[in-house]
Amino acid sequence: MIPQSTIDQILTVPILDVVKDYVELKRNGLNYTGLCPFHTEKSPSFSVSPVKNIYKCFGCSAGGGPIKFVMEKEKLPFAEACRKLAKKFNIPIQEEDQTPEQKAAQNRRETLYVVNSYAAAYFKECILAPEHKEALAYARSRWTDDTLKTFEIGFAPDSWDGLLEYSRKLGIKTESLIEAGLLKESQKTGGKPYDFFRGRLMIPLHDKYGRTIGFTGRNLKPDSKAKYLNSPESPIYQKGKTLFGLNWAAHSIKEQGFAYLVEGNADVIRLHQLGILETIGSSGTGLTLDQVLEIKKLCSSVTLIGDTDLAGQRAVDRSAKLIIGAGMNCNVVKLPSADGQKADPDSFFTDPDQVKEFVKANIRDYIIDLAQSWQEKSHAPDFKLRAIEEICFLISKLNPSGHEVYIDQVSRLIKPKKAWKDKLKEILKDSLPESEEKDFKRSLRTSALRIGITTASTRTITVITSIPRKASSGAATLY
Ligand SMILES: [Zn+2]
Repeated sequence: MIPQSTIDQILTVPILDVVKDYVELKRNGLNYTGLCPFHTEKSPSFSVSPVKNIYKCFGCSAGGGPIKFVMEKEKLPFAEACRKLAKKFNIPIQEEDQTPEQKAAQNRRETLYVVNSYAAAYFKECILAPEHKEALAYARSRWTDDTLKTFEIGFAPDSWDGLLEYSRKLGIKTESLIEAGLLKESQKTGGKPYDFFRGRLMIPLHDKYGRTIGFTGRNLKPDSKAKYLNSPESPIYQKGKTLFGLNWAAHSIKEQGFAYLVEGNADVIRLHQLGILETIGSSGTGLTLDQVLEIKKLCSSVTLIGDTDLAGQRAVDRSAKLIIGAGMNCNVVKLPSADGQKADPDSFFTDPDQVKEFVKANIRDYIIDLAQSWQEKSHAPDFKLRAIEEICFLISKLNPSGHEVYIDQVSRLIKPKKAWKDKLKEILKDSLPESEEKDFKRSLRTSALRIGITTASTRTITVITSIPRKASSGAATLY
């Protein structure tokens, strides 16, 4: 198996050196252009950006990074494309030894990627079929053809065995389709399999390398119970670890130094269609720490654009605290809700200039915003103290170089400044950085041993009670 660190290294090989083996490219400003190797054309619409390290065709919407290019061009599975690139760029692969169980699990995962990509191809075929023209009309009413191609949007017919039959013809095993969550086994008919997604617009979910790992299906039937239905979790799809749109957004996020985070997949698609490529989504679930840490690999600041209903606003609060807790800056953009109607980025944003202008006029730092809302609620002293404690706790998580600026601003809203400074000092004293904490524990252990040898245990207790709160809990485990 190829180690993750090697795959990440392969992902950064220069795209230009990969593509120019296949396509004649001409320099055009910062980018290079040529005839697309994925569709037939006479004038070049294929572009390579060495800065973003991606390729993109404006004709057929093919696009991605170096690994994706080799996968598509050479029709290779992911691991084989990685090996080919590693060989070309002299990147040594120390294939990790796998136990037979690990190997079997790896093979199962590889199978699931393949099964999902066949299913995506089937759904794409279906949306173009004349008998499903209503599904295509609906999709076109929401998105441009370029967006439909980029996000590989398809349609699952309202049939119990459409995908089942298609897969049988291709020789795909039913059990793999069941494991991928594409088929379900009926309890009533003694385990007979049937299509899980029926009568739904299908949006594939990708991992950061662009591999298809699952689907979101939007119901097109009016009598729908669940508007959206997601693939169940599988060995290749964990909801809490997936960020929708990351395969398209990663380079832009890195380049811009920040990410827009929205709730729904439709919100991500809307903003990408409007050219706001640094947008990702938590896939309609509560943001998780795994997702935050994945974003942190690319940038240090996140701007949340939530839904306007109460649930949406609560989600923004929760996400903001998680993001700041991970040491990243967090901004929020609140959308207006007209006549109490729920609004979300998908319904609110209509053109690129409107997005830019609205964001510019409405972007707020989450911490400052929080201080403002506490200040508006009450001026009672105990209320103020709670506000100072809660907000200082968030400030303490940020880069120390910004502490002074934050204290300066929030103390203009809730006075006095000294209370802020004292509280922050107290919190910082209690939460020593990990390395310092380790040193501290080590020195404590050494002195405790020394005391243990030479004095009575009562002396030791005195030592423990005199140290700061957080470190003392660590020290207590020593005894
Ligand atoms: Zn093309």
